[in-house]
Amino acid sequence: MRASPSKSPQVLDPEQVLQGLHPLMLSGSLLISAAVGLQYLGQWRVMAWVFGANALRIFLNVLLSKVFARRLAPSVVEWARLAVNVSILAAIGVLAGWSLLLWSYVPFSMFWLYGMNGSGRGRALVYIGVMDGAALLSGCDPFEPLAFSLLAVLSFLMTEKRAELLQRSLEHIIEQREQLAWAQGELRLLHERAFEQEKFSSLGLMAAGVAHEINNPMAFVTSNVNSLYKDLKQQQPLAEPLKEYVDEVLPATLDGIKRVNAIVSDLRRFARGDPEVYSEYDPNEEAKAALRIVQGQLHHVRAELELGEVGNVVGRPQQLVQVLVNMLANAGQATAPGGVVRLSTREETDGIRVEVRDTGMGMTPETLRNLFQPFFTTKPPGMGTGLGLAVAHSIVTGQGGHIEVESTPGKGACFTLHLPRVAHRPSRSTGDRVSAAAA
Ligand code: ADP
Repeated sequence: MRASPSKSPQVLDPEQVLQGLHPLMLSGSLLISAAVGLQYLGQWRVMAWVFGANALRIFLNVLLSKVFARRLAPSVVEWARLAVNVSILAAIGVLAGWSLLLWSYVPFSMFWLYGMNGSGRGRALVYIGVMDGAALLSGCDPFEPLAFSLLAVLSFLMTEKRAELLQRSLEHIIEQREQLAWAQGELRLLHERAFEQEKFSSLGLMAAGVAHEINNPMAFVTSNVNSLYKDLKQQQPLAEPLKEYVDEVLPATLDGIKRVNAIVSDLRRFARGDPEVYSEYDPNEEAKAALRIVQGQLHHVRAELELGEVGNVVGRPQQLVQVLVNMLANAGQATAPGGVVRLSTREETDGIRVEVRDTGMGMTPETLRNLFQPFFTTKPPGMGTGLGLAVAHSIVTGQGGHIEVESTPGKGACFTLHLPRVAHRPSRSTGDRVSAAAA
């Protein structure tokens, strides 16, 4: 199983939020400024003063956020903007009187100041403090600053809370989307495995039938040819044509029979798995045994064994030997004299890993694609049956493990078995189905 997805990343970037709010804040500011100016209709000097001061304020804001923002740190720009806004607004308040429309700037500014870079609260407090201080010092009715300051604090807190909740729900949605993508991946993987199992299961049924049909006649062919060979050997002296039979034809025939029997037994094993019982065993011991068995086929290469601390596992030891013998023999056949075949074991988080690596001729992408297909072989007729890796695949997946193959043509190949610490047991239905056909 793959690891479940990690926690979702930050989804709301404060800088991006500020950028997004920019046009809205600018139009809001222009609207309030126009309303404040219009309030002094008739008092032309005051009105010109209010419009002029607001125009300067807006110009400085745009200058700071568009030009200086590229050269200065964001927090410096924000503090500078705060200083510009609060000083010009307080000056308008002192010189033109504290109109209610001017006060509406205070809660409106809170939408901009909330929680940015963690210093939004500080800036909001300075903003309210300066406006209130200037108002009280210039003799304004204290309930006016109180009313708008309260509204400002509450607007600030509400905006902050809303942003936090939005952030949380976005994180939740992202997390769910990642989990969904992960589950889809798992489902696809399971589907592929089920499809593969199904394919192997039907091939198994067919193979079991063929093996059964061949097995019985082969039993008496083997026995009869053996008896004939023994009887003829005892007849002395033999006529010349019969002598040739005893010396060459019959031994070659027995050799051929032995090979057919081996294929039939492989087919039967492929079809229903080895009936060996599950037991606790040391994979390192089985790896050594496999290497011993195949030693005769590896005399032309340097065979290396690297055993890690893997501890005991539960499964079918003889099946592991069978898989390794096949892989080691393949590696030996693919590797030229002087090359290296290496068998190693290592512990993994949830099981063990056994690796058969060689420096041989490697495989083409075409071979890699068909490697585990029954009867796929690139060896000359009589040399390979194409069943070894199909059997290995069915054994390993049947125990809940999997095989990984890496290879570059001309540079060698590496087969990695990943086995669980406790092998899975085959489901009754599949086992029964295939065994019934093989019987
Ligand atoms: P067989 O050995 O009877 O051909 P296998 O199923 O064991 O059947 O192997 C199938 C094919 O996989 C082989 O014919 C060979 O082409 C390829 N193969 C397996 N192991 C190796 C290896 N270590 N290096 C190169 N090719 C390999």
